[in-house]
Amino acid sequence: MATVGIRDVRKRFGNFEVLHGVSVDIADGDFVVLVGPSGCGKSTLLRMLAGLENISAGEISIGGRVVNTVPPKDRDIAMVFQNYALYPHMTVFDNMAFSMKLAGAPRNVMEQEVGRAAKILGLETLLERFPRQLSGGQRQRVAMGRAIVRNPQVFLFDEPLSNLDAKLRVQMRSEIKELHQRLKVTTVYVTHDQIEAMTMADQIVVMNHGIIEQAGPPLALYDKPANIFVAGFIGSPA
Ligand code: ADP
Ligand code: MG
Repeated sequence: MATVGIRDVRKRFGNFEVLHGVSVDIADGDFVVLVGPSGCGKSTLLRMLAGLENISAGEISIGGRVVNTVPPKDRDIAMVFQNYALYPHMTVFDNMAFSMKLAGAPRNVMEQEVGRAAKILGLETLLERFPRQLSGGQRQRVAMGRAIVRNPQVFLFDEPLSNLDAKLRVQMRSEIKELHQRLKVTTVYVTHDQIEAMTMADQIVVMNHGIIEQAGPPLALYDKPANIFVAGFIGSPA
């Protein structure tokens, strides 16, 4: 677990600036949801936290350490993507053990860690299956399992539920929240869905066109939206 600090961060692609200096402070163990319309810069910010995108200006720190130039594998974070990004030719076990295998972990350690994650996620009986033999919800659990086995200080989720149908989405929301309550790992969760944000977040960060319109607990934003954009987006009464 760790605090995350985002200080005046900018991102330019060529001459095109997509993040215009954003600052967010995330407390240890908090579940923070970045929400905003498509194209506002949520994924870009998350990818910068993961180290998958360089920072044009500003500073990002994890656990008090500035990580601007730290490569992804040394950041102690794990990211869960929208499209699951599972390896189709590998079993569930091998998908979940992949990062440990790369790091040269012995077989018994891999079995222990994958077993622990599988138990948390109810995947114990599915470890020998291939991704194509799983439902959408099960695939999403495997993607989360792959993150859990790494024992990260920070979880990053980029719209992890957007490929699931509405009913499963509601169920997976509570599973992810339960997981968080159990592991208490600092989490940054990106979505464009305001209901997901309102029901899941300790803190919501509302983004729009590369800036932060408002940040705070869900009810504070609902009761006292800073402006008409936040009111409209969160669905506060006019
Ligand atoms: P969101 O996740 O909120 O939908 P993104 O962070 O994906 O938004 O994108 C923000 C903006 O940055 C968009 O205008 C997008 O087209 C642009 N963008 C994202 N990645 C790149 C890239 N690699 N090169 C150029 N523009 C990009
Ligand atoms: Mg995105």
